[in-house]
Amino acid sequence: MNRLALVAHDRMKEAMVTLAREFEAVLRRHQLMATGTTGARLHEGVGLDVERLLSGPMGGDLQIGARLAVGQVDALIFLRDPMTPQPHEPDINALVRACDVHDVPCATNVASARILLAHLDARP
Ligand code: PGA
Repeated sequence: MNRLALVAHDRMKEAMVTLAREFEAVLRRHQLMATGTTGARLHEGVGLDVERLLSGPMGGDLQIGARLAVGQVDALIFLRDPMTPQPHEPDINALVRACDVHDVPCATNVASARILLAHLDARP
């Protein structure tokens, strides 16, 4: 079982729910955590059991980053909105940077998230 973190910016939340429906069976085999609103949408829309952290702008990305830095997150799907400035841009950059520092798979769009999810069961 992998520990998967999920984050979607507001305009990407529908895409996250659609993706989660497509890969629901895979997601149910792993431990899930998400920023607050993303987690709520995944729970309400797909019925997934997701640990909800703080909302992204309130520090949720940082919470995920802190876990990731100590080896408690195995993969991240972060559907970023490339068209809208975010108030917590430094937190977003810190989280993606933490993935690179610790060599944790990080998918930042739906196409790469599909590939990540298709291989998630195979990760030790
Ligand atoms: P949210 O946070 O899931 O609480 O909306 C995501 C974000 O905007 O970083």
